[in-house]
Amino acid sequence: MKKKRIVFKVGNGVLTESNKIAKERMLNLVSLIAEVRRFHEVILVTSGAVAAGHTALKLDRKMQIGKKVLASVGQPLLMSSYKRNFDIYDVEISQILLTEDDFDSRKRTEIFQQIINTTLENNILPIINENDISSTPDQVFGDNDQLSAHVAHYTNADVLVILSDIDGYYDSNPHENPDANMLKVVSSISDEALKAQHSPNNEFATGGIVTKLKAAKYLMDNGREMFLCSGYEILRRLKIFCSAICTKKGRSLAQKPNRTTSNR
Ligand code: ADP
Repeated sequence: MKKKRIVFKVGNGVLTESNKIAKERMLNLVSLIAEVRRFHEVILVTSGAVAAGHTALKLDRKMQIGKKVLASVGQPLLMSSYKRNFDIYDVEISQILLTEDDFDSRKRTEIFQQIINTTLENNILPIINENDISSTPDQVFGDNDQLSAHVAHYTNADVLVILSDIDGYYDSNPHENPDANMLKVVSSISDEALKAQHSPNNEFATGGIVTKLKAAKYLMDNGREMFLCSGYEILRRLKIFCSAICTKKGRSLAQKPNRTTSNR
């Protein structure tokens, strides 16, 4: 079986509970990644720094400086939690903090690609987060959904898997409409859906479904695929989940590629 390159993005909804890191879920995530890494290359894009910072310091995250300070306090807390958990599986990790600027110039993007390739070649798991500590508002994506889509594209990944608090994309918000139906495969996204109001389901979440759709659209336009699925049940469904990723027969949001690009 040819090794695939898989980008996992985990959101605040999955990683945090009552304003702190949900330890059991992080361990589940780490177990999942350790398993998938046995067969494939994995890149992790993680949220959770601001929520982790909030456990140590009660600053107002809605203020720009408050959020930056929370991120600066939380990022090492988040990484040390990952380190503790990945140590169980003997997986070495690296921290890569990015901004939108890292994707807007050929030179910077090439450096980023080389860092990722060299990290993976050395069997180290790259853990990426948005650098919202030193960046200005016009340099940030503002949500890790779109960051992870850019990471997936520029690292020539086979698929982006977004682990969210929701198990797929529905025809309306399932938290508001109990009759909402899951759209299992989506191959086009309307401008109207992309412009809808953001609807995160968690105090620390930033995007809601709209940023996931933007990520999906970006990948679709670049001939790539994305899965949206629940991060809550990952361990219970580990086998199904891994085979779904590998065979592209998942029941969640999958984007049909319309062309393939190669820039790895
Ligand atoms: P995460 O922290 O995983 O990024 P978010 O809370 O930002 O998650 O986004 C997922 C939330 O988006 C869901 O829990 C749901 O409340 C909301 N949502 C709004 N519309 C939809 C839809 N059409 N399909 C799925 N989820 C939706």
